[in-house]
Amino acid sequence: TDPYLDVTTFLSSRRHSGTTALIDASSGRRVSFPELWHSVSAVATALLSPPLSVRKGQVVLLFSPNSLHFPVVSLAVMSIGAVITTANPLNMPREIAKQMADSSPVLMFATRDLVGKLPNDGGFPIVLLEESRIGAEDPRVVFTIQEMIVTKPNPYLQREKVSQDDTATLLYSSGTTGNSKGVVVTHRNLISMIEIIINRFKLEEGQGPQVFLCTVPMFHVYGLAAFASGLLGSGSTIVVLSKFELAEMLRAIASYGVTYLPLVPPILVAMLAHPSKLPLGRLHKILSGGAPLSRELIEGFKEKYPGIEILQGYGLTESTAIGASTDSAEESRRYGTAGMLSPNTEARIVDPETGKSLPPNQTGELWIRGPYVMKEYFKNVEATKSTLDSEGWLRTGDLCYIDEDGYLFVVDRLKELIKYKGYQVPPAELEALLLTHPGIADAAVIPFPDKEVGQFPMAYVVRKPGTQLTETEVMTFVGKQVAPYKKVRRVAFVSAVPKNASGKILRKDLIKLATSKL
Ligand code: ATP
Repeated sequence: TDPYLDVTTFLSSRRHSGTTALIDASSGRRVSFPELWHSVSAVATALLSPPLSVRKGQVVLLFSPNSLHFPVVSLAVMSIGAVITTANPLNMPREIAKQMADSSPVLMFATRDLVGKLPNDGGFPIVLLEESRIGAEDPRVVFTIQEMIVTKPNPYLQREKVSQDDTATLLYSSGTTGNSKGVVVTHRNLISMIEIIINRFKLEEGQGPQVFLCTVPMFHVYGLAAFASGLLGSGSTIVVLSKFELAEMLRAIASYGVTYLPLVPPILVAMLAHPSKLPLGRLHKILSGGAPLSRELIEGFKEKYPGIEILQGYGLTESTAIGASTDSAEESRRYGTAGMLSPNTEARIVDPETGKSLPPNQTGELWIRGPYVMKEYFKNVEATKSTLDSEGWLRTGDLCYIDEDGYLFVVDRLKELIKYKGYQVPPAELEALLLTHPGIADAAVIPFPDKEVGQFPMAYVVRKPGTQLTETEVMTFVGKQVAPYKKVRRVAFVSAVPKNASGKILRKDLIKLATSKL
């Protein structure tokens, strides 16, 4: 294949498409594919021209919630061979400053609300992601996005060639299990991810183009995968929701005829918790990823909404969002599986103690190798060495097994195992079990420090409204169904389980809460 086939080539092939590319869910504003192509080319021209003069390999920061501008800026930066890096809009000034010190952006795109969080040390020019000039009085603001979009695209402007091995984006991992790290994702990684998603989820089939709803955050690899596979891979319409809110999401599904919804498990929890059957219009495919999906949720959802297929995807930022996925209702019915390995993927299950490969059905750390595996951690040789070996194997940090038919089962994250005496207890298993209790709406299990046994499992439980569950009842319920070392030995009730943008339980926060009173 052409080594110069980059992400922009895909967009350029859609520039005459008659399909709507983007719809803003709240204002209803639409962007056609020709308009998208024009805006991306205009922003690219403005980036290359003075006074910005951004060059290949330089890093540009995008600090924004989901919006119509998000894909435009991302694709424009990638198209000139520069590197787009994104940040969670919920980041505090200290966190964003740390990320900027690591990535050294030459330019920043930010919404008016977020500009105030950016470090005020002069060096960085800002493009305001607004249509109007309000807020542009800040001396750091050089342009508004609107001013860039009306730039006349100049296809003859000198630009360096972009090849598949060039970096497209620098994504910071969530930092759920340690420090957040910069993951270097190349054009090749993105292209293989897009091809796999379209192929596995059959997004090109059916009557007319699919309509995606993008409520998963675009700053995270999951949201990037959603908008990039839709716009570049299948030429679909992306309905953009700036943040998840159940009523807003339902309104968007009905108003714009959404057919495909990538989500994280907490959204399914919210949909299922709703007392009535929600009107889901033309929706026929849901993709769940980012965190484990319990059998209870799949069964409950299928019973309530039999016409909707639930697919699952497993991946990491380090694997450009993919690795394994289910590709039909049949596979999702093999409850608990994260699916089959993606095409072009090799996998090993490795015993974390001995480093030896294990046979089917035995649990160990999953190592994967494929064209979507990141190049490296940004400026972090040590972290790269311990995660990616010289032969291209990525250590996922996930405890998994693969059955004899090739289905992947994620047991838990290695770093999150609870160490009770000499035993290892996977909190995800206890959480899934707790969710089978009719009085429990949600649950999280954490390690509680103990002098005698090291750690024991403690459960945070959200009761279903109107239920009178006690701590003893919860402990007895679990105790009857697990080996003694896995017993939950402490319970607390909460109104909600804290989770991050990709649906993961914020165990660090719960551990802090649990141990603050010690
Ligand atoms: P950090 O490495 O900084 O702690 P993070 O790992 O939380 O960040 P992500 O890249 O968002 O950041 O998360 C990847 C992890 O998400 C995987 O390693 C896996 O544990 C979990 N995960 C993703 N999809 C699934 C799935 N379908 N089922 C179970 N777990 C999943």
